[in-house]
Amino acid sequence: MTEQRKAVALISGGLDSLLAAKVIQEQGIHVEGINFYTGFCVEGHTHAIRKKDQKKSKRNNALWVAEQLGIKLHIVDIVEEYKDIVFNPKHGYGANLNPCLDCKIFMVSKALEWIRKMDFDFIITGEVIGQRPMSQRKETMPVVSGESGAEDLLLRPLCAKNLPQTLPEREGWVERGGLYDFSGRSRKPQMALAAKFGFEDYAQPAGGCCFLTDAQYSVKLADLWRARGSKQYEMDDIMLLKVGRHLRPAPHYKVIIAREEGEGNFLQGYRKQFVSIKTISHAGPLALIDGEPRAADIELAARLVARYSQGRDADLVELEVMDRQGTSRTLKVEPIKPHEIPQEWHI
Ligand code: SF4
Repeated sequence: MTEQRKAVALISGGLDSLLAAKVIQEQGIHVEGINFYTGFCVEGHTHAIRKKDQKKSKRNNALWVAEQLGIKLHIVDIVEEYKDIVFNPKHGYGANLNPCLDCKIFMVSKALEWIRKMDFDFIITGEVIGQRPMSQRKETMPVVSGESGAEDLLLRPLCAKNLPQTLPEREGWVERGGLYDFSGRSRKPQMALAAKFGFEDYAQPAGGCCFLTDAQYSVKLADLWRARGSKQYEMDDIMLLKVGRHLRPAPHYKVIIAREEGEGNFLQGYRKQFVSIKTISHAGPLALIDGEPRAADIELAARLVARYSQGRDADLVELEVMDRQGTSRTLKVEPIKPHEIPQEWHI
């Protein structure tokens, strides 16, 4: 009896990785999945908080894919190690702060470590030549397999026929005839293949899983780095960049103002880490001050918060300011006028 070969599939939660794993499963290979958690793939999080996003799926797409395939999924937290990739991508950033090529190389190298440890035979990704401008080009395919160290242990079932043979093909573990030659940005071949396998309701594709591809998010991250004087972040920082209206009146502090109740509830959990402001005399949002605000800064922040409260047209609005130790005091301020808020304050 021939030994059953084992492959690990990089599962992002999108259609391509679902199909790639399925194609190999169909060839009688034992497949398990790995999903790398970078901290930036947290769409479900915002969807759960914001009203306008409430109809969007809150499911974890990687888990959903694993369930569809009936495979084991290993979720691997790479938040700390991944910071080096985001700070210093050797191959640079894409259109925004997305270090896609370095990210792919890193993930494949982690998968390689994993297969060595777990005694698996090869790695599968859902990459398609020409699908993404930065990381999925004909020239970058060998860069990913080479720099990750995976070399010909990396098989891309959806575009394998456009690439040199890999070890699993040469060894006859998988049949090249059962692999595909997809290329380009069109998703039609993938959709047809999904239909053939009977998959419906898969996650909508292209970049949607990673906040680093989002222009506005990238601007906020760049602002954070500038303000801190270094490219550093903690998990809380990158979560907070997704929530609220961010205004920076001066380099040493910024104000994060909830845009709706769900965001207010979320920010509530951070009151011990930041100076926070809440309106008392009128209904209004909760706000956090990130940085080291002085007394005058807190007063200005309070005027901003008052502007976004129901008391925006009142002469005075009363607010509660709470410091990080939980000590609070009240403040009465005049809401700032719209023309007094320079456009540059909005991040
Ligand atoms: S979109 Fe994000 S997760 Fe995907 S390759 Fe680029 S940086 Fe990595």
